[in-house]
Amino acid sequence: MVVDPDTTPAGRKIIHVDMDAFYASVEQRDDPALRGKPVAVGGSSRRGVVAAASYEARKFGVRSAMPSVTAKRQCPALIFVPPRFEVYRDISHQIRAIFRDYADEVEPLSLDEAYLDVSADKAGLGSATAAAKLIRERIHAETGLTASAGVSYNKFIAKLASDQNKPDGLTIIPPGKGAAFVQTLSIRRFHGIGPVTAAKMEGLGIFSGADLAAMDGVWLATHFGNSAEWLHNLARGIDHRRVKSNRPLKSLGGERTFFNDLITDTEIREALAHVCTVVWDRAAKKGARGRTVTLKLRYADFRTITRARSVTAPILDGASLLAAGEAILGPLLPTEQGIRLLGVTLSKFEDEEDDDEDTAAPADLFSLI
Ligand SMILES: [Mg+2]
Repeated sequence: MVVDPDTTPAGRKIIHVDMDAFYASVEQRDDPALRGKPVAVGGSSRRGVVAAASYEARKFGVRSAMPSVTAKRQCPALIFVPPRFEVYRDISHQIRAIFRDYADEVEPLSLDEAYLDVSADKAGLGSATAAAKLIRERIHAETGLTASAGVSYNKFIAKLASDQNKPDGLTIIPPGKGAAFVQTLSIRRFHGIGPVTAAKMEGLGIFSGADLAAMDGVWLATHFGNSAEWLHNLARGIDHRRVKSNRPLKSLGGERTFFNDLITDTEIREALAHVCTVVWDRAAKKGARGRTVTLKLRYADFRTITRARSVTAPILDGASLLAAGEAILGPLLPTEQGIRLLGVTLSKFEDEEDDDEDTAAPADLFSLI
């Protein structure tokens, strides 16, 4: 295979997996009476919207996000089924468990699609194509549903590829073939170009990837500002984004560096209270219930110490976080040296084993200056 050095770090292999008409297919799987029929998942009421349409319904032009009234007009035989999100969520966990047998880096885009970075060949299959085949087979065997997959050297092309032969399709775009592939496609299919931008492009005479590739950087910058470089790259099949897996939250914290070193107990305690407020605010937003609090202090001479304390019951409010912080700080006061930085981290979360990608966030520390 020819590796185009311009396109991606050499050797990167990405699979994009996308379940076919996911919600509608689940309903057809679970109710034989719906098989082979035009099905819309969603409400049939006046204000209802189609959440997903079976392939039989799509033949009539029924699409997701379409008002149910319009859908019914397009396809009078359309059968509406209320969504069962718990079921979709369970299946989503099933397929993500399959993905993890083939890749450590898995980035879900929604319940039914994800990017996998299979560069490391976790399953030892020798090729990304082999992994994609197995993943599709296992999804079918274990869920009774079909998925389409795209294999390529970056996320942008892998996603376009998975959409190329739907349903139940597998499309491989090897390095060196990406630019030509992208240039044959309508810009309407480009992930990241929304309807508004697409309409603007069409107004400027850009309908396909080839039209986009014909425009130079200056022209693109004139019309699309900051997006110019990104668009320039897309038209050439270039996309450097990494697959970002959502790992369970491990710790969450904040720290503050002071313009003037803190000397008195009062100002140090005030600083602690401030940082704890900010940390608790973030913890509360994420629903994170930690049991270990770590205090970090950096002195005027840059000596840095950390002291941790674990509590038996998870910290459920800002006052408890502050109390734990004060319990650590107390023995360190009064200070002989000024303090230039104070940080608080909360960790050992209750749901550390919970890997629900919809709620978990990457471990993060933020800095307050
Ligand atoms: Mg899908």
